[in-house]
Amino acid sequence: MAERPRTTSQPDPRCVDCGCDAPELDQEQTLRSTLGWRLVFERQRDGSNKALWRCPPCWQKYKQRRASRPDR
Ligand SMILES: [Zn+2]
Repeated sequence: MAERPRTTSQPDPRCVDCGCDAPELDQEQTLRSTLGWRLVFERQRDGSNKALWRCPPCWQKYKQRRASRPDR
């Protein structure tokens, strides 16, 4: 498995849950606000933050998961 070197200038606009690609738009702001995509930064084990996108349906599920398991 070859791991690509990461350029962290731009988060990968792809849903982390279902893997669908975000529609290509000029700006992330537009992507989020008009289509309901959400970007969250999740703390990784090594202490870094990773940018994770979720599409609207997966964001709803994600919120429900968190709500039902508030300690995780
Ligand atoms: Zn999704």
